[in-house]
Amino acid sequence: MKKPLITVIGSMNMDLVTNTKKAPSQGETVIGDFFKMMPGGKGANQAIAAARLGGQVQFIGRVGDDQFGQELKNLLREENIFLTNVEPVTHTSTGVATIILSDGDNRIIVTPGANDHVDVAYLEGLKDQIIQSDLVLVQFEIPLPSIKYILNLCEEHGIPIIVNPAPARELEMEDWLKATYITPNETEVSELFGGLEQVSNHTIFEKLVITLGKEGASYLDQRVPGFTVQATDTTGAGDTFNGALAVALTEGLPMKEAVRFANGAAALSVQKFGAQGGMPTRDELDNFLEKEGV
Ligand code: ADP
Repeated sequence: MKKPLITVIGSMNMDLVTNTKKAPSQGETVIGDFFKMMPGGKGANQAIAAARLGGQVQFIGRVGDDQFGQELKNLLREENIFLTNVEPVTHTSTGVATIILSDGDNRIIVTPGANDHVDVAYLEGLKDQIIQSDLVLVQFEIPLPSIKYILNLCEEHGIPIIVNPAPARELEMEDWLKATYITPNETEVSELFGGLEQVSNHTIFEKLVITLGKEGASYLDQRVPGFTVQATDTTGAGDTFNGALAVALTEGLPMKEAVRFANGAAALSVQKFGAQGGMPTRDELDNFLEKEGV
C-alpha cells in the first residue's frame, strides 16, 4: 500500500553555538570555551521527526549556495526525506542562528537568509507537488504571505494542514480558520489569541492542539497527559510533537491517540541533547509506548 505523503514546508538553519564565560560587550573580544554547529530550523526539524517515525516526507524549503546548505540537504537526505524541491538561492546565505551561551543565558541572532526566499512565487512553481500531499505541515519561519498561499491551496484542494504558529505571528481570523489544526504552545496561545478563555467559545477552539510542556497537550476540553521522563534538553520538543502528530494523523489515529503518540515522541526527544539528536525512531517510540502501557 502506498504510504500517505506528508509535505513539510519551512525553514532550514545551521545553529552556530559558542559557549563563553562572559559575553562580549560592544567592541570587545573575548575567548570562548567551546563551539558547536547544530542543524536546525523548525521546518527541517519537523520533517526529520516525521521521517524517523516512518512517515513518507517531502520537504520544501530553500538553502543558500554555501556549504551549510549542502550539509543540511545531506542530513535530510540521510533521513530518506524527498528533497528535489530544495533549490539553492544564489548570492544568499543559508539560514543561520548565531547563539552565544554565557552565564546560563543566551543571546541569539537569527539570519533567515534563504528561508525568506520560500516565497509565493517559489511555491507557485511547486503547486503540483504540494497538491499531491495527504497532509501539509507548516511553521512561521517563512514569509507570512507564503503561509496564506499554502492555506488557500490546501483549502481549495481539500488537503488537511497543521499550522504550528511558531514563532508567534499574527494572521487574520479568516486565515486561521483555513487550518485543520493549529498547534501553539502556551506562550503562543496567549500571544496570538489572548489565552484559551478568549477563544473557548469561538470556532477556532476546535482546531487548537495546545502543547503544555511536561504536562502534555490539550485538545478541545481534554488534556492528554505527558510522560514523566528525565529531561536533558527540551529544544525541539515542539518540533518532535508536530512531526509525530502529522504521522499519527496520516495513519488515521483518532485525535486523542494521535496526541498521545506525539507526547510520547516528544518525551523521548527531551531526554537527549539537541533538537534533532533526540528525535526517536518508530521502533523506539513503539517500545516506549508499550512499556508505558499505551
Ligand atoms: P515548545 O517546545 O514548542 O515550547 P512545549 O514545551 O509545550 O513546546 O513541548 C512540546 C511537547 O513536548 C509537549 O506537549 C510534551 O508532549 C513534550 N514535552 C516537553 N517538555 C517535556 C518534559 N519535560 N517531559 C516530557 N515531555 C515534555
